Amino acid sequence: MSTVLITGGAGYIGSHVVKELPRQGYQPIVYDNLQTGHRKSVRNALFIEGDLADSEKLRKTFRSYSIDAIMHFAADCLVGESVENPLKYFKNNVKNSIQLLETMDEFDIKKFIFSSSAAVYGEPKEIPIPEDHLCSPTNPYGETKLIFEKVLQAYLEAGKLNYVSLRYFNAAGADPAGELGEDHAPETHLIPVGIKAVLTGDSIPIFGTDYDTPDGTCIRDYIHVTDLARAHILALKRLEGGGNSGIYNLGNGNGYSVRQVIETIRKVTNRKVTTIESPRRPGDPERLVASSEKIKKELGWTPKYAALETIVETAWQWHRNHPNGYGE
Ligand code: UDP
Repeated sequence: MSTVLITGGAGYIGSHVVKELPRQGYQPIVYDNLQTGHRKSVRNALFIEGDLADSEKLRKTFRSYSIDAIMHFAADCLVGESVENPLKYFKNNVKNSIQLLETMDEFDIKKFIFSSSAAVYGEPKEIPIPEDHLCSPTNPYGETKLIFEKVLQAYLEAGKLNYVSLRYFNAAGADPAGELGEDHAPETHLIPVGIKAVLTGDSIPIFGTDYDTPDGTCIRDYIHVTDLARAHILALKRLEGGGNSGIYNLGNGNGYSVRQVIETIRKVTNRKVTTIESPRRPGDPERLVASSEKIKKELGWTPKYAALETIVETAWQWHRNHPNGYGE
């Protein structure tokens, strides 16, 4: 059985991948500093509390367990914060990630799955966005993801490793079995913000109503977190089978406006949703919709929970049953 180290495995996306790995015959080991992750979200894996910057602890981990592959989720991922505090982002997402590669090299670990982002594209010139679209990030967060992709490509060309980089669009929803879900503090993402507003009676801000879209609000491509999780395992299988390294978009290929998402929340929860039309949020591109044809064709990925209603339904189930998230 292959052993996979998951950095950031106690986070939202990482924890869903960790749940999926044993089902497909892998042994997961989570390495997470619990700064934003939740200990309770790791149920079926060995857990090591550690920081990416702590190479000694990483070394100790690599010495103690025979690790076959790394899935690297640990990162800072708030666009607004990256604008205010860029060095934090370059340090954690680039410097500490390079340090992880160095430590992997010492232990001759050669398979790497990277959490990248649609933020590498910036303002798209073409919709749906293919992987060979121009990358021109509009914020430091996207810049750090793009730089690290370049590091990986150079490292591949130097014969040091094989990698798959997955460029996520809008991860949303929760484990359909109800065990895992989204618990960020503060929460900034549209679907959980909307659902929490329904539960508390607060209103939801709509950031920008004057975009050049049919209803004036931003369009995004929402992908279910479990579908995202399954893609990581397909990526790993490809590397294990000797397949080529590569970069793949991960989205549903359907765009929904902020108003359409809020309408879906209203339908699914069957409750009143109050909205406040608010100014645009700085740095928000007007439309982000993925072409996911490449991952479908090359890795055989297909989304199982593609419908926006299903995505919102699973998120609603999680938040209703866990109004305080993991309660930590
Ligand atoms: N959004 C909104 N109100 C909120 C949170 C988000 O109108 O309270 C909008 C946001 O401006 C963007 C879309 O919803 O157009 C998706 O935002 P989210 O933060 O969920 O993901 P992002 O696309 O920024 O990664």
